[in-house]
Amino acid sequence: MPSTIALYRKIFDTFQAPVSRYDCGRKCAPLNDGVPVCCDTGHAIPLVDKHEWLLLKSRGDLWRPYRARDAQAKEELADKHRDCRAIECKGFRHCERDNRSMACRAFPFFPYITREDELVGLSVFWDFADRCWVQSNLQIVEPAFVRECIAAYELLFDNDKLERDANREHSAAMRRAFTRMDRVIPLLGRKGEYLAIEPRTHKIRRAHWREYARNDTFKDEKPAAPAKR
Ligand code: SF4
Ligand code: SF4
Repeated sequence: MPSTIALYRKIFDTFQAPVSRYDCGRKCAPLNDGVPVCCDTGHAIPLVDKHEWLLLKSRGDLWRPYRARDAQAKEELADKHRDCRAIECKGFRHCERDNRSMACRAFPFFPYITREDELVGLSVFWDFADRCWVQSNLQIVEPAFVRECIAAYELLFDNDKLERDANREHSAAMRRAFTRMDRVIPLLGRKGEYLAIEPRTHKIRRAHWREYARNDTFKDEKPAAPAKR
């Protein structure tokens, strides 16, 4: 069954928990001219499904279509799927929690799918590790966030095979990249537990959050206090 506006309404109702009890935008914004990195189209252009766009549009004027302003943005959007819409919000000072897109709610996480095709938890968009404070402090992530994020993606995947395929492919790309770097893939299991994926065997094991790599940008800071588990 294809996605619908009703499906996205259900997804938004399902997925409301914040990543953590920290206002993480305050941690990365000072390094980005005062703007939280994931709310800056210079770093990430929000892409939404056409039905998600119709739902967001019906809820107010927070969002508008994104117009590429330079060659790099045009190139980034050149191969987007025809059912995707590039959009932008009015800016972080005008954020409306209930009207954030699914990508806003999930960032910096995506659903990690194994070679055996199992959705086992959440991992991170690692190419933002140098700018995203959360990725150097994964211990702060609330288990409720992980559960809701996975439940929302499962709703989506039940209705949108292409979206699942895209996340499966992204997981495979992460395995290849981390094998090359010889680094464990950080993984938050379905209940929020700390897991690690071995870079060569891709075996999943229990981990301590202190094993997760911290990016050079944040490594000299004291790690933030972990969420209760
Ligand atoms: S999720 Fe990462 S990039 Fe986005 S506001 Fe928080 S620390 Fe910044
Ligand atoms: S809606 Fe909020 S969270 Fe999403 S990009 Fe805009 S300011 Fe950031």
